[in-house]
Order: sequence, then C-alpha cells, then structure tokens
Amino acid sequence: MTCECPECTEYDGPNPVTMRVRLLVLSAQFLVALVGLWRERSFKALGVFLGAIAFFFTIPRYLICARCEGYGKDCYSLYMGKVTSMIWPKVEGKEVSPLGALLEVLTLLTVTNAPVVGLRSNRKLLALYMLLANATFWMHFSHACRHCAQYATDWKKDCPAAKAARGMFSGRQVQF
Ligand code: SF4
Repeated sequence: MTCECPECTEYDGPNPVTMRVRLLVLSAQFLVALVGLWRERSFKALGVFLGAIAFFFTIPRYLICARCEGYGKDCYSLYMGKVTSMIWPKVEGKEVSPLGALLEVLTLLTVTNAPVVGLRSNRKLLALYMLLANATFWMHFSHACRHCAQYATDWKKDCPAAKAARGMFSGRQVQF
C-alpha cells in the first residue's frame, strides 16, 4: 500500500531536500572518519569501519529490505529500498527477519563506534565526528523513525525505534 501521509503525497516519498541534507551530513561524518582514521594511523579501526559498511549491504539488506514493502522505493531510510533492489532480488512471501534486525543493530553500532575508538587520541577530530554522528542519528530518528511511527502499517510500526518516536512525537503531525 502506498503511504498517503502529507509528505509522501506531496513528494511521492520523502522530501528530497530533507534527504539531501541528511545525506550531506552522513557523507561529512564518513569523510571525517576516513580522513581522521588515516591521519591517526588507526588502521585497525579503519578496517573495522570499512568492513562493517560493506557488511551492511550484504546479509542485513537481504534479510530486511529485500522483504520489505519499501523494496525498490525511495524509502525514508536513505533510499535503502532502492539501493537494495540494485544488489538483491526481492524476497517474496517471507517476513522481515529478527536475525536481520539484530545484525543491523550490531552493524550500525560497529560503523558508528569504530571511528570513536580510532580517533580517541585526537580530541578535535573526535568532537567533530561525534557532532556529525549525533546529527545523523537525530535527523534519521526525527525523519525516518518518526514517519514509521506515525504512518507505517506493516512490521515497521512495531520497530523499537518507531515506538520510541511515537512516544516522543505522539499526536504531532510533523512534516519536513
Ligand atoms: S523501509 Fe527500511 S526496511 Fe524497508 S526498504 Fe527502506 S530501509 Fe529497508
């Protein structure tokens, strides 16, 4: 079923300007991580960071996005439904996997925290990275998770992040 929320109605998906800003901040976060880890010679952390990003596009996408109604679409989670359709075939008739959700959480924790460990001896770079990582998180939460919290009709409405967003934005129709 196509979402009929105000934002999807107006833009046929998420607001592209909001998405551009989110992608810009995420790109800046990853750039600081890459350059910072290289400059600090934190090659183990850099390897873990890049390995976790690569893994993100493998099993978690197959177990989650390939089974989601957002597959092939410009979904609110940084267009991952569209990206997944370029990597994996659609999986029909199967529920989104709890194992996929667990792997997703572990992968995202690794991606986010490997640079924190690797940049710990450079406070300026660490502070800049933390600022951008927090901005990425809160923009995702207040845009993507808020959208699922208020408008999802499938498994996404029961996602813990959607429940948290529902508690925070309850009753408020937020449009970006
Ligand atoms: S809505 Fe979430 S689970 Fe569905 S395709 Fe997009 S990122 Fe994947």
